[in-house]
Amino acid sequence: MDLKYKRILLKLSGEALMGDHEFGVDFDTLNFIASEVKEVHDLGVNIGIVVGGGNIFRGVSSAAGNIDRVTADYMGMLATVMNALALQDALEKIGCETRVQSSIEMRQIAEPFIRRRAMRHFEKGRVVIFAAGTGNPYFTTDSAATLRSSEMNMDVVLKGTKVDGVYDSDPVNNPDAVKYETIDYLSVLNERLKVMDSTAISMCMDNKMPIIVFDLYGKGNMKKIVTGDKLGTIVEG
Ligand code: UDP
Repeated sequence: MDLKYKRILLKLSGEALMGDHEFGVDFDTLNFIASEVKEVHDLGVNIGIVVGGGNIFRGVSSAAGNIDRVTADYMGMLATVMNALALQDALEKIGCETRVQSSIEMRQIAEPFIRRRAMRHFEKGRVVIFAAGTGNPYFTTDSAATLRSSEMNMDVVLKGTKVDGVYDSDPVNNPDAVKYETIDYLSVLNERLKVMDSTAISMCMDNKMPIIVFDLYGKGNMKKIVTGDKLGTIVEG
């Protein structure tokens, strides 16, 4: 099968794993996402995944109360490790070999992030889940996704969301909202469209890394994208 993208970095927010719950992980949703990843993996695509932690803890949320910002951000990064382990478990149960690499060393449960090692995992056909964000406070996992995507020479960042692309206004509240097929980085920044935070968008712009925003819950969507169907919205130069 012809592949449009051979190396993809999938960005999942923590909330993507939450299903209809108010926090934590919904296992049906987790298993669905794992099966979607496996389908693409079976085509021979190299897959890196950056998972967020917002379903458990976010440094800048009200749940962080008056905890020091930096401490709260580290708590957020630890939350992403829990999600990464849950995702690893779901993927391996369906026969998809994975490695978790963490930006914060915790050798008992994950490898440390080592670029060359991650490259080797891709060569061996393993899915690599990048946990603990960038390892630095004041960043988000969107920035981690764009950073890892650039340094691992991926072809594209796939940002899976609840909506099927980027709209000029919120499609949930505005039935007349118009979807963009493509949009450039500067418009996303200038119009403050909620694709990713500005650090992440700027990094993609500087490194010419395209982002595809797509409906994560549509069965087969990821496969359609890697095989060349135009789905969702592509953010590029
Ligand atoms: N975080 C951080 N540095 C990073 C990535 C994440 O400090 O490089 C912290 C930050 O507090 C963030 C939390 O981890 O709020 C969870 O990540 P994020 O909000 O990106 O998760 P998502 O919204 O994707 O679920």
